[in-house]
Amino acid sequence: MKAHFDKPFTQQEAIPEAGIERAVEIMRSGRLHRYNVIEGETSEAALLESEYAVYQGVPYCLACASGGYALHVALKATGLKAGDKVLTNAFTLAPVPGAIHNAGGVPVLVEVDENFCADLEHLETQMQASGARFFMMSHMRGHLADMDKVVALCEQYGVTLIEDCAHTMGARWKGKLSGNFGAVACFSTQTYKHLNSGEGGLLTTADPDTMARAVMHSGSYMLYERHGAAPDAETYNDIRLDTPNYSGRMDNLRAAILRAQLPNLDENCKRWNKLYKAAEVGLAKISGIALPVRPAAESYVASSIQFRTPSLGEQQIQSLIVGCAARGVELKWFGNADPTGFTSRYDSWRYLGDAPELPQTLKILASTLDMRLPLTFEAQDMALIAEIIGEELAQLS
Ligand SMILES: *Cc1c(COP(=O)(O)O)cnc(C)c1O
Repeated sequence: MKAHFDKPFTQQEAIPEAGIERAVEIMRSGRLHRYNVIEGETSEAALLESEYAVYQGVPYCLACASGGYALHVALKATGLKAGDKVLTNAFTLAPVPGAIHNAGGVPVLVEVDENFCADLEHLETQMQASGARFFMMSHMRGHLADMDKVVALCEQYGVTLIEDCAHTMGARWKGKLSGNFGAVACFSTQTYKHLNSGEGGLLTTADPDTMARAVMHSGSYMLYERHGAAPDAETYNDIRLDTPNYSGRMDNLRAAILRAQLPNLDENCKRWNKLYKAAEVGLAKISGIALPVRPAAESYVASSIQFRTPSLGEQQIQSLIVGCAARGVELKWFGNADPTGFTSRYDSWRYLGDAPELPQTLKILASTLDMRLPLTFEAQDMALIAEIIGEELAQLS
């Protein structure tokens, strides 16, 4: 009988007991709304903001409803006007072009390179050709491009950098935390990210005016003094009546369960990387599989692994996915023209109008497979997973 892998790829770890207890206390108190505090009380949402700002090493943090919402607010808070162009990776998740569209921007897509980063040569070409003043850079699947080059290009062309750190919370480039390279960073605390509150987002910045606008947009009802890591009340004087409330706050329940996870974040990042390294060892032995090169300057947090099967055609890739799935190994394919589950190819975002021609991206995605590495797996599991992928791949030729 063929070996079968039995653990689910979508099973996350339980919320730490302290978070569950605190969540129950909050429910007993009835004060779930972040601005619903009694005399002398600081809300869980405000505490989370203070603690995450310390973790990230920045003065300001805003807790909000989702990562995609944080991206939308980041664009508005940095001054995007309707019709403005926004550079972004063609290889990313649907909430990124969605946030740009929602903010009134027009995405300008940048090709992906073989290591799943934005192609920086194409980025420069697109900066020159489009004149865009914003780059919403998605560190998709945790792959960090050369951030020194990215920052230099943004400076050279007067482009505001907004980092989508949905997959790089805790990752670093040359020792500096991902999220601290641009004007604003956005994080997601949706279930499959590095902190899990079901849904949720965090926005960080070092700029007081940007932060003040972000707080107003998030729906502060003029209660901005009840924030944990936000600028002084005077910062709001000039903008408070000119900044719409786009209602997208985080509530105290979510904040409480995130606060309980934050102290374990760095340790969990190491656990993800152990899984990744074990998966890498297993997959590297299989002929026909190409793994991305990870630069020494990148301290990644690999909560998933991507690899390419350059010699396989579309039908063969589909067969490989079906064969692996039948044996319990869940792979996702980024080349599919029809979006399935969480993956969608850029040319399926039809609301953006005619898709640009990005031959390099299409070619790379056509052979790109993706596998989650949940912390409910152990490093030893990777040998069996690699064995199954290897056997199914060998059967195709
Ligand atoms: C999950 C994700 C987001 C948005 O996060 P939500 O909290 O689900 O809105 C943004 N970008 C990428 C790359 C993501 O994977």
